[in-house]
Amino acid sequence: MSAFSLKRAAKPADGAVIKRILVRCPSTGKLTATGKTVEEAAWPQTKLTKPKLDCPHCRQVHIWTKDDVVLAR
Ligand SMILES: [Zn+2]
Repeated sequence: MSAFSLKRAAKPADGAVIKRILVRCPSTGKLTATGKTVEEAAWPQTKLTKPKLDCPHCRQVHIWTKDDVVLAR
């Protein structure tokens, strides 16, 4: 008898909400699409590996973190 049978969250079959990942440009304050999308329910567990953004607003490369992200439809 196992007391440690943790139930893993199954992949959501339906009702999944896919969001676009937007990042605010620190120079212009404009929201910029990163071109990435994420399932909204998976976002809290999503790990990012030093994501970068080629910013069309100020033409610089921004390194962003989850704290900078705005999820949009
Ligand atoms: Zn920028």
